[in-house]
Amino acid sequence: MRIILLGAPGAGKGTISKLLTARNESVHISTGDILRNAVKEQTPLGKKAKQYMDSGDLVPDSLIMGIMEERLQEPDCQKGFIFDGFPRTIPQAEALDEILAKLNIQLDFVANLDVDVDVVLDRLTTRRTCSNPSCQAIYNIKSMPTKVEDICDKCGSPVIQRSDETKEAILNRLETYNIQTTPLVDYYSQKGLLKNIKALSSDDVVNEIMAGL
Ligand code: ADP
Ligand code: ZN
Repeated sequence: MRIILLGAPGAGKGTISKLLTARNESVHISTGDILRNAVKEQTPLGKKAKQYMDSGDLVPDSLIMGIMEERLQEPDCQKGFIFDGFPRTIPQAEALDEILAKLNIQLDFVANLDVDVDVVLDRLTTRRTCSNPSCQAIYNIKSMPTKVEDICDKCGSPVIQRSDETKEAILNRLETYNIQTTPLVDYYSQKGLLKNIKALSSDDVVNEIMAGL
């Protein structure tokens, strides 16, 4: 499958992506995960990206496109991909179209996960993420706690609240999403690629996506 997941922060893109890769050979490509790794490892990219991320702003398009153009050409992408958190702006979507055309790759569709703001706010403040960059498992203190408090079930690393998950940064991320990313709904709808999915349970969303292929 070659799909893009669109949806507000907290809509469940990360969780859905991980469930999809369990049923499919496609790779999960999250620009957020890539950037958090880079920040953690203090690479040149990470140093440039950190300030934007901590305040809930978008990292500049040019940085993102550099990463993604390379990433798409790695061999594991040939079996398909699930983009999570990319593209995030109209310029990114336009640049992606050019790259896909150049590589002769066609998208199956763009799944737009539709969730209420209240749900999203509640999820983000209670979300916890594994601090191990190669794991990044997602938990929730209310609905999906770790078995041992603050320790990842999968790898045993500490589970933390992301630095962009303070209330202030969350509100900024939601606003950034509304202003910069929601125009992509129209963009892909005009191309006939949009599939709106009312986000119910994760399993329902996954089934709907699989059925749409
Ligand atoms: P969420 O969707 O939950 O807000 P992500 O993990 O997708 O979180 O992204 C975290 C942060 O990484 C964003 O707030 C932004 O600063 C940066 N980021 C991720 N993807 C992109 C992108 N495609 N373009 C610009 N910035 C991005
Ligand atoms: Zn872990």
